Amino acid sequence: MGFTLGATLLSSPIYSFMAAETGNPNKMKNNKDKLGIALVGLGQYSTNQLAPALEETENCYLAGIVTGTPTKAEAWKEKYNIPDKNIYNYENFDEIANNDNIDIVYVVLPISMHAEYTIRAAKAKKHVICEKPMALNAEEAQSMVDACAENGVLLAIGYRLHYEPFNQRVMELGQNEVFGKVQSIEAVDNSNMTRGSLDVWRLNKDLAGGGPLMDLGIYCVQGAVYTMGKNPVAVTARFGEVTEPEYFHEVEQSITWEMEFEGGVVAKCESSYADKEGKNLLAGKAENGWWRLEPAYGYSGKKGETSEGKMDLPNIYEQVSQMDSQVESFRKGEQSKTPGEMGVRDMKIIMAIYESANNDGKRVELKF
Ligand code: NAD
Repeated sequence: MGFTLGATLLSSPIYSFMAAETGNPNKMKNNKDKLGIALVGLGQYSTNQLAPALEETENCYLAGIVTGTPTKAEAWKEKYNIPDKNIYNYENFDEIANNDNIDIVYVVLPISMHAEYTIRAAKAKKHVICEKPMALNAEEAQSMVDACAENGVLLAIGYRLHYEPFNQRVMELGQNEVFGKVQSIEAVDNSNMTRGSLDVWRLNKDLAGGGPLMDLGIYCVQGAVYTMGKNPVAVTARFGEVTEPEYFHEVEQSITWEMEFEGGVVAKCESSYADKEGKNLLAGKAENGWWRLEPAYGYSGKKGETSEGKMDLPNIYEQVSQMDSQVESFRKGEQSKTPGEMGVRDMKIIMAIYESANNDGKRVELKF
C-alpha cells in the first residue's frame, strides 16, 4: 500500500518553510521550531483531546482557531494565548491564506463539512489534517485529495491508531505473519447514543452521512485492512433491527458486515450506536496463534493479548504521537502514514458496505 508523493510537490514553493524558521515574532519563543496548527471546529474532540495534545507536541502547536461561536473564541484565546489575528470564523476563514503563523489546518467538524473546509484550506495553501471519516462518500473524498494535490499541499487523515503501539503490534502480527497466515478477523466498535440528546449531528443523515458505520465502524474497516496489509476484494452487510426509532430514523442503529480478502480470509465486523456494553475489539486468528485487543480503539486503556501472553505495551497520548508524526512528514514534504488516499479507500469500502446492506446483503465487489 504505497502512498507516495510526487517529486513535483517537493519542489513547490510552499515547502520553503521546511528549510528555514519563519522568524515570525508572533510565535511564542519556545515554539520557534514548531509548525502552527489551526483547529477548525471547537467541539468535544478539539476541546478534550487535540488542544491539550498540542500542548505536548514537539513538532507543532496550537497557533489558531476557527469557530462560529464568539464566546468560545474568547475562552480559547485566554486559555491558549492565541493572538486575535489567528482567530477566524467560518466566513473570514479564507483570509487564513495570508497568515504565516498557520501552516496546517486541522478540520474537526461534522462530516458533511470536511470537504468544504479541506478544500478551502488547500486553496489557502495550508496543509490539512482532516478527521475521520474523511467525507460523506468516496467522490467527495477524492475531490479533497485532488484539491490538495492541485494546490501543492499535503492531506492527512486523523487515524490516530496508526501512531500507537497496540494497533501497530496488530499490523506487525498480521502483515508479517508472525503466527503464520491470518485465517480470520473479528472487529467490533459499539457505543450507546440512546442515553443522550436527540439533537446531535451524529444522528442527522445530512450532517453525518450515516450512523455507527461512518463514525465507529470505520475503525473496524481500518483494523481489518491493517491486519491484512491489503484491501478487501468484496463485502456483504446487513442493517440491524431498529429498537430505538426515536433515535434512529435517519441513520442506522447498527450494522454487521463481512470483508472478504484474497485467499478467502474473512473479517467479521459489527458497529452499533445502541450497545450498553460498548463492545470494542480487534482480534485475529492465524495458523499458529491468535491476538486480541479489547478495548482496541479508545483513547486510552487499551489491552492486548496474544496466544503467547499479555502484550506488554504502553498506552500513550495518541493524538500527540499522531500530530507529531504527521507534521514531521509535512516538514519533509512527504505523505504521512495516513494520507488522504487512505481516507478515499476507506470511503469506497464504507460505500460498498452500505450498498450491500441496502440490497439485502448482496455481495459487492471492490476495485481500487
Ligand atoms: P462535536 O459535536 O463535539 O463538535 C463539532 C463542532 O463543529 C462543534 O464545535 C460545533 O459547534 C461545530 N459545528 C459547526 N457547524 C456545525 C453544524 N452545522 N452542526 C453541528 N456542529 C457544527 O463533534 P466531535 O466529537 O468533536 O467530532 C468532530 C469530528 O471529529 C468528527 O469528524 C468526528 O468523527 C471526529 N472525531 C474523531 C475522533 C478520533 O478519535 N479521531 C474522536 C471524536 C471525534
